[in-house]
Amino acid sequence: MQEKNKNRLTYALYAFIVFALFGLLVWLGHFSVFQDFITKIEQSSFDLRQTILSKYKTPNKDIIILSVDDATYEYIMDKYGYWPISRKIWADTINFIEKAQPKSIVMDLLFIKANLNDVSSDNALVSAIKDNNNVFLSMNFDNYSDEIRKSPVIDEKFKLNIKEGFLEDNPFVSFINARLVMPELMNETKNIGVINVTRDKDGIIRNVTPIFKYKDDYYPNLSLLAAMNYLNIDSISIANNKIILDKNHTIPLDKSQRAILNWYGKSNTYKHIPLWEVIKAQKENNTDFINKNFKNKVIYVGTTTTSLSDIKSVPVESNMSGVELHTTFFNNILDNNFIKKSTLKVDFAISIILCLIVGYLVLKTENVAKTFLFLFSTLVLYSVFSLLLMQIFNIWVTIVFPFITTITTFILIYCEKYLLKSKDYEQTYKLAVTDGLTQIYNHRYFQEQMIVNINNFKRYGQVFSIIIMDIDFFKKFNDTYGHQSGDCVLKQVAAILKKNSRTSDVVCRYGGEEMTIILTNTNKKDAQITANKICQAVRNNKFTLANGEKVNVTISVGVATAGENGITPQEIIEYSDKCLYKAKETGRNKVVAEI
Ligand code: GH3
Ligand code: MG
Ligand code: MG
Repeated sequence: MQEKNKNRLTYALYAFIVFALFGLLVWLGHFSVFQDFITKIEQSSFDLRQTILSKYKTPNKDIIILSVDDATYEYIMDKYGYWPISRKIWADTINFIEKAQPKSIVMDLLFIKANLNDVSSDNALVSAIKDNNNVFLSMNFDNYSDEIRKSPVIDEKFKLNIKEGFLEDNPFVSFINARLVMPELMNETKNIGVINVTRDKDGIIRNVTPIFKYKDDYYPNLSLLAAMNYLNIDSISIANNKIILDKNHTIPLDKSQRAILNWYGKSNTYKHIPLWEVIKAQKENNTDFINKNFKNKVIYVGTTTTSLSDIKSVPVESNMSGVELHTTFFNNILDNNFIKKSTLKVDFAISIILCLIVGYLVLKTENVAKTFLFLFSTLVLYSVFSLLLMQIFNIWVTIVFPFITTITTFILIYCEKYLLKSKDYEQTYKLAVTDGLTQIYNHRYFQEQMIVNINNFKRYGQVFSIIIMDIDFFKKFNDTYGHQSGDCVLKQVAAILKKNSRTSDVVCRYGGEEMTIILTNTNKKDAQITANKICQAVRNNKFTLANGEKVNVTISVGVATAGENGITPQEIIEYSDKCLYKAKETGRNKVVAEI
């Protein structure tokens, strides 16, 4: 019963440790440093998945980037002698490209203020925009106070047409000020989109804001606007954390109401045509060049020069031009393949399943190497699974949280198993050295301990003695009272021996109704005293039989001491046996220590 309680206590302790460790994890989860740490690793795992999978994705071939690259900078400086590029050049470029009838021209460039020194250039651009309604321009939102820049009123025609739904206010969505395009341009177009981007804490851009809120009205991201035009959609709805363009095109939103981009590859995934080549072709009136490159294409115009910045860090590359970020967003809308992050509930369920699998395998496996292999393969398989989920369903399941809980479970169960095993071993050993009937040590243990004591005697001179005793006329006792009563007596004799010896003494059943005691650190004289005490205790005891009857029993005892009577277990046992024989010979119920 006591043993059972002890086991219960141990299990309760294990359970407590498991809960305490998981509690610790939850508690740590409340610290922003810990959260940031976990988020950082999770994001890195996302970046790695994106980098691997981007090799298996094909970007839309209709998207072309007209790039203001380093060579264009050299070309313009050489031919015109000033920078930035004159708006006249932009006007000419737009008009020239339009001859090839592109689907649209999306300008990731800001034409903010009128240029007072070059009004004719501005006018040229204004008429180019007026003549071509497939050109898209960009504006910026920010949070400057009215004292720095008076927040402008934006014309109704630029608002996003939302059929139903709304967005919660948050810093990625809502702004209080704007940098608009020069008013003359705004008069001539209704195609203006927002190009704000936001970085994660590690400086990498993973999400974009599709819809912005400014003074209680909604405005589209430049690429959302361009995509709506491409797909012939003039209004959208917002429902269930999704922007619905039509039944085949939706943009899932995360908690910050942003979209997570799905990447097609590193820089130059899309075909780049440097601006200087177009300027040159225009000068040469080379229409073949533009027909070949721009017919029916969506042309994104942006800066790619490293010297002129607009360089972003994204999951698949640390130096990517901003315009490629916008094309990726546009491409994601067309392919309807934005990344959806799994919910906390799903992440939790996955963690529990992994913990159960690993826990089960650890408990079932005996081999240490195999257990580690199981853990390792479970984690690898889960990583592959997470990669496939992203590849097939565009789902981002968390990796770090399940990894932490699974490894914690593994360690806990492994330790627990090890502790239980050592406890099992202890119990098995105890059973192996105990006599079942009398619950004292058995013959095997007696022999083991004789060797230990002889070694100590030889090495350190620790004297010890042994007592060997045999119940008198026990055969007759069995015949008279029955074997069961004989067993009762054996148990009670064993109890008397235990009671009358020290805890350091080893009380054993030698065999049959013979018992021995190894008395450590005991010389002949003291051993004799103990032997007499025991002999007397048995003599005076009333033994209760199976039927409740009380009887007397006597024993004969032999004593031997290491050194005096021998220096090997055999010699000592033999001497004590001879003493016992002498006690029997000379009347029984007595102790003999000399022969
Ligand atoms: P002595 O005084 O000379 O020792 O006479 P004895 O009858 O006791 O003779 P001996 O020691 O040779 O007899 C051993 C007897 O002990 C034989 C057997 O019946 C009995 N015995 C041995 N083991 C057990 C046991 O486990 N239970 C019971 N009930 N009897 C046992
Ligand atoms: Mg005997
Ligand atoms: Mg006997």
